[in-house]
Amino acid sequence: MADQRLFGTNGIRGIPNEDLTPDFALRVGKSIGMFVSGEVAVGRDTRISGDMIMSSVNAGLMATGHDIIDLGILPTPALQYYCKTHGIYGVMITASHNPPQYNGIKVIDRDGTEIERPSEEKIEGIYGGNSFNMVKWEGVGRLRHVDDAIDQYINAVLSRVDVKRIRERKFRILADTGNGAAYFSTPRLLEKLGCTVVTLNANPDGRFTSRNAEPKPENLRDLMSLMADGNFDLGIAHDGDADRVVFIDERGEFIDGDRSLALLVKNVASAGDIVVTPVSSSDAISDVCASVGATLIRTKVGAPIVARTMIQNGAVIGGEENGGVIYGKHQYCRDGAMTLSLMLDLMARSNRKISELVRELPQYFLDKRQVERTVDWTLLERELRRGEKVDTTDGIKIMKEDGWILIRPSGTERILRIYAESTDMAAARHYADQYVSKIKDLQEKLG
Ligand code: MG
Repeated sequence: MADQRLFGTNGIRGIPNEDLTPDFALRVGKSIGMFVSGEVAVGRDTRISGDMIMSSVNAGLMATGHDIIDLGILPTPALQYYCKTHGIYGVMITASHNPPQYNGIKVIDRDGTEIERPSEEKIEGIYGGNSFNMVKWEGVGRLRHVDDAIDQYINAVLSRVDVKRIRERKFRILADTGNGAAYFSTPRLLEKLGCTVVTLNANPDGRFTSRNAEPKPENLRDLMSLMADGNFDLGIAHDGDADRVVFIDERGEFIDGDRSLALLVKNVASAGDIVVTPVSSSDAISDVCASVGATLIRTKVGAPIVARTMIQNGAVIGGEENGGVIYGKHQYCRDGAMTLSLMLDLMARSNRKISELVRELPQYFLDKRQVERTVDWTLLERELRRGEKVDTTDGIKIMKEDGWILIRPSGTERILRIYAESTDMAAARHYADQYVSKIKDLQEKLG
């Protein structure tokens, strides 16, 4: 049997009892068990099917001789931190920001990072081979619960910021944990930072009835309107597994992920430091790096690629425009609680309102579109780059005097993503319009 691809860009994803059945999860668990060594830490987000999928994966791991450390419901970065500090493999049952019916399986390496593609291929090969070394009865793994993983994680995050200075400011924070994995940990962290915390959706509800798990402005209307009343210093919202966080200013305005990343880079990076971000991120990050004397490396789109590039280059900070920020001193993965703490640290240091800090950043405007792809990408790419100055790190990025246009084929759907950025809002819109129609015309001609 040919090796079957199981892992997508973010682990294995599916709908429980449709494609993500207990039988499938059991066989995945056995396959992971044949690949990893030693004890395995497991955790999950708040999804309804979490216990079922986790039980199946655990059974597969124990059948192949692994003891399980069950960390319960916690953010993905808290599990990653546990793996890193204890030097053990981990499995996270989560579908991050996907709709409530989904769930997923993610494998964490002993250094706390997501396993790399070659390791996923090994697990897929074992799965496809369908032959497992089941241990003798006396070697079957056992399960124990550890209930202080969240505290270990929170203490690690706190050790990276000036707690005293933050506590003195007595920030008022409105925290929307979106019924997800940080429903307990983020309010606890904020209390330890001396904040007055009002929570929204801080009950673990795996049906995500209050809001969609993706922290985008259209899903955060409650949070934004409550912020607009003006009683808080900062509003925050996580995705389902809290590796990401987005911010709302004291007036109720959503802060784009590019801008919050640029703000953090400005405050964390100094001369000689390395910063990593994908080609899709704003030039505001390039400008900020130039202003502090840091070197910016741009990668393909995807958090694991950003994390690996950071490790290879000893980068201090990196991240994506969706609120996923990686702080190298803490750990090389996206971490919502760490990102939130860094933001409070810089607010405490500056003694200014968050909206004022954002306003001082270089201003860029991004227009995002998508178009159905009807012809082969290589054909289209050849036409699009004709006569243009391009960067081919990921898709093609066409460089203009006053901005850029990035066109990337999606890895999972037959669509093209178009990003157009400029210092001028009208120019960004013009470029986006221009390339949407250019691509449609080209596809008609080539199709
Ligand atoms: Mg996530």
